[in-house]
Amino acid sequence: MNEMPRVWIGCIGCYNGGFLVGEWVDADEADTYAEMDQWTSLIDSARNWPNGKAQAYHIVEAHEELWCYDSEGFGDLIKGECSPGQAAEVWQLVEDLGDDERDAFGAWLANQHLSADSDHLKQFQDSYQGRADSAEDYVRDWIEECDGVDTSQFPYSCIDWDAAAREFFMSDYDALDAPDGGVFIFSH
Ligand SMILES: [Zn+2]
Repeated sequence: MNEMPRVWIGCIGCYNGGFLVGEWVDADEADTYAEMDQWTSLIDSARNWPNGKAQAYHIVEAHEELWCYDSEGFGDLIKGECSPGQAAEVWQLVEDLGDDERDAFGAWLANQHLSADSDHLKQFQDSYQGRADSAEDYVRDWIEECDGVDTSQFPYSCIDWDAAAREFFMSDYDALDAPDGGVFIFSH
């Protein structure tokens, strides 16, 4: 299983004043971070930072509005910035998925410029067929399974599988590149 994704959560008031008061937080704590002791002690320490900019730009008691300015480990599931609540929601949505499925969901969302939510997860799961080394491999396996044949034997060995895969994927299936090699397969 992948490591827990993280977000860099910072104070919006301080950020707008040109000062970074924030830290990396595990995704499952993003939505409760503002109430945690961790945040309180970070503000306390920021108050004592040598140049004292944090207190100059922002009243200490008002470090309330937080924002995720960066993230890591979410792949394509979160693009750019978001609220801590959104980060926590996305994590809840995908935490029970396997690594491949999570990456495939990210690729599927990015390909259609969609955001991660439960409706899109449902659509994704209806469409996702699994992962293969290549589109060509997927078609060969598919034919072998459906027709009970060995595609390395004549006459199957004479088939232009590259062309067959193009035809196959044009009508009913899509293949999207997986981040670390291979392809994710989707039915229409
Ligand atoms: Zn602040």
